[in-house]
Amino acid sequence: MNGNAHNIAPLDASQLKIQLAETLKPIPAPGTYQFGDIHTDHMLIMTYHPLTGWSAPEIKPYGPIPIDPASNCLQYASNVFEGMKAILDPQGKPRMFRPKDNMERLLSSAARMALPTFDPDALLTCISKLVAIESRWIPSLSDHSLYIRPTMVGTKASIKVGASDHAVLYTIVTPVGPYFTPTADTPAGAGGAVSLLAVSDHVRSWPGGTGGFKLGLNYSPGFVPQRAAAALGYDQVLWLLNTGDGRKLITEAGAMNFFAAVRRADGGTTFITPPLDGTILPGITRDSTLQLLRAYAQGSVALPPLPSPPPGPIEIEERELALGELVEHAAAGTLLECFGTGTAVLVVGIERIGEVVIDKKLSTEAEDVAAVAEGQGAGGKGGKAQGTFDITMTSGRGLGPMGRALWDKLLAIKEGREDFAGWAVLCE
Ligand SMILES: *Cc1c(COP(=O)(O)O)cnc(C)c1O
Repeated sequence: MNGNAHNIAPLDASQLKIQLAETLKPIPAPGTYQFGDIHTDHMLIMTYHPLTGWSAPEIKPYGPIPIDPASNCLQYASNVFEGMKAILDPQGKPRMFRPKDNMERLLSSAARMALPTFDPDALLTCISKLVAIESRWIPSLSDHSLYIRPTMVGTKASIKVGASDHAVLYTIVTPVGPYFTPTADTPAGAGGAVSLLAVSDHVRSWPGGTGGFKLGLNYSPGFVPQRAAAALGYDQVLWLLNTGDGRKLITEAGAMNFFAAVRRADGGTTFITPPLDGTILPGITRDSTLQLLRAYAQGSVALPPLPSPPPGPIEIEERELALGELVEHAAAGTLLECFGTGTAVLVVGIERIGEVVIDKKLSTEAEDVAAVAEGQGAGGKGGKAQGTFDITMTSGRGLGPMGRALWDKLLAIKEGREDFAGWAVLCE
C-alpha cells in the first residue's frame, strides 16, 4: 500500500477557480477565418503531480503554458486529445453533443498512453463551465459552432523512455464555420463531398496498434500521404490495410469513419461500415449514424426526404470491407453512396475514390512526393502514375440522398431543434 494514497487529490470540479480576462478580444466575422485559427479569451487547465494528484482546475486567460524541454510529451508524443462541438439551441443556450462519450474516450486514450486518469464527469463539469463562459464566441448561424479541444500531455521532465507520471490537462475552444464553403456543386446547407486517394503502402493503423484511440501520434504520419493525395488532386486519403490474402481492407477516410451503401438483389439497401476491431477510431458520429439507421430500418425514426418506412429492407453491417468489393459494386452499378462521418463534418459525401498504383512505395521524401504528382515517380506516364483508376458513385457527385438525410437529421439533433435519446446536452 502506498502510504500517500489518501493524499492523491482526484480531479475535483468543486475546486474550479475562475480568473476572467481583463479585456476581451474582438470576435471576427464568420467566414473570415480557417478551422482552428482563432484563440478565444479563456482556457481550462489543471495539472497532475504523482504525489499530490490533480491541482484545482482553473479557467483563466488563454495563453502559453510552460513546458520543460525534457518533457515526455515532446520526446515521446504522450499527447491525447478529443474533438467536440458546442452550438446555440433555438433558445440561444449552448449545447454539446453526447459529451460524456468524448470524456470516456479521452479517458481510454489517456489510459492507453499510461497517463494519469481522471474523473470524466468532473472534467465535463469544468468544460461545460468553460463553454458557458465562452458562449459569446459561438456563432449564432446554422452549421456554425464552437469546436472544443480537450488535450492531455505527459509532462514528466525526463528523457528516460517510460510513462509520464506528470501531466497537464487543458481545454481550448475555437469558433468554426461549415466544413465546406458553398460552391455550385454543394450549395449552402447541402453538406459537401470529397475525393479520396486509396493508399495501402502507408498504413494509418494495424491490428494491435493504436488506431482505436485519439493519440496525437496517430495523425502526424499521415501528413506525407495527405500531401501526396493533394498533389494528385484528391482531397483526402482512404486508409487501407493489406491482409495476408491480398485484400485491401478499408479502415477510415482521412480522420473520418467510412460508410458505404449498396443495393442488394432483393431491392433492399445494405449499409456497411468497418468494425471496431482496434484499427478504427470509435467515432461518436459513427455510432450516432448506426443508431439512426437502425431506428430508420425499424420504422421508429423518419429520415426525410428518404421515404418512411423504407421502400425495401435495410440491413446494417459492421464488418470488413475490402476495396475490391467496392470496385465490384461500382462496376455492377450497385454502389449507391459512400460517406464519411465525424464531428468536424458530421456527414460528408465521398464522390470519387482513386487508387494510383505506383511502381514503388510513395516516398516519404517531400521532393519525391512532388515528383509523383508530376508523373515522374511512376515512370513519366503522361503526368499520372500508372494503373490509375477511379470508382464513382451511382448517386453522382456531391453528398448523396442517404448521406444528406443523415446530415440533416444529425444537424437538427445537434442544434436542439429535434431530440433523439437526449444527445444534445445543455452547458451550464
Ligand atoms: C475523431 C476521429 C473520427 C470521428 O470521431 P467523432 O467522434 O465522430 O468525431 C474518426 N476517425 C478518426 C481517425 C478520428 O480521429
